[in-house]
Amino acid sequence: MNSRDRVYAALTRGPVDRIPVCGMGWTIGAVAGGFSTKEYAQDGNIMAKGQIAFWKKTGVDILNPTSDMGQLAEGWGVKMRYEADLTPMLDEFAVKEPSDWEKLRVLDPLVDGRMHVTIEAVKKVREHLGDKVALMPYVPSPLTSATHVCYMEQVMMDILLNPDALHIGLKTMTETIIAYIEAIMDAGADGVLYATTRASGEITTEEQYREFGEKYDRLVLSSLKRQDGTNILHVCGVEPHFGILAGYTNANGINWWDRGSNLSLEEAKKKFGDKICLVGGIDQTTTLILEGAEAVEQEAKEAIEKGFADGRGMILSPGCEISPNTPLENVKMMVKAAELYGKGGR
Ligand SMILES: [Zn+2]
Repeated sequence: MNSRDRVYAALTRGPVDRIPVCGMGWTIGAVAGGFSTKEYAQDGNIMAKGQIAFWKKTGVDILNPTSDMGQLAEGWGVKMRYEADLTPMLDEFAVKEPSDWEKLRVLDPLVDGRMHVTIEAVKKVREHLGDKVALMPYVPSPLTSATHVCYMEQVMMDILLNPDALHIGLKTMTETIIAYIEAIMDAGADGVLYATTRASGEITTEEQYREFGEKYDRLVLSSLKRQDGTNILHVCGVEPHFGILAGYTNANGINWWDRGSNLSLEEAKKKFGDKICLVGGIDQTTTLILEGAEAVEQEAKEAIEKGFADGRGMILSPGCEISPNTPLENVKMMVKAAELYGKGGR
């Protein structure tokens, strides 16, 4: 099996030769390729080179050519701050008052913001690596994007006080995100890592997420030309609304922080294992960045036992983007552990 077949099989909970591995390596591509984070975030060729370097040094099955939260947001007027070796940061938001939601416009992914960087990187990586790797760039959902153009606290206030204005903004962002994903797919991606990061109890109630999140997520996912489910949802936070997300169509996997949230891999396997592919098992905040390869091997082995005992329906992965300072040999160890302990065919 090549990486694309392996990932597709895992996402459809079919048999695999071994458990696939996702590196969740975004900005670390700059480090792997010896580039500054600023040039990596602004040039698709450089992003491609960085991603290819990351792949060569780790051998992961899924690459996520992505730089930062501003790739779309900058198109809506958000100002960025670039600092050496750090992921570019959102510096000045575009939506400062509720009426600003109505002023957002639908963006052209080839022209506005820095979406073109990822689109170009996908094209280039595919040209160079062919089927050796699955490509799934990070794309924020409409509600997540709302919190990239406006303070999160203000978005939460608008949910309560200015829902109509916020809905107008979410609609504009939905149209933009659909166009962005289509452009990414046309460039040769296998799917996207679709970030539903605000679907977590410490940020939204289930009811709020259904109205301001799920509604638009479903619109995005159901509008895409490709409906084979090769998209992975990504949720941050400690109380993921897993029940809502596991019911989505056209997204067959969920990545979440299984080692830091209130839902363990073991419990997720029991409750949702027959519905959706589980993408996790490795703690990016501790083991992967702070410890040695041996600890990573043990953690991977344990995760595989809990989530992959039946030989299907899991991708070994960190629970969120890995820090650019993560030792690459630790990421490589995830792949080695997958080969050692994650044989499929059961
Ligand atoms: Zn995250």
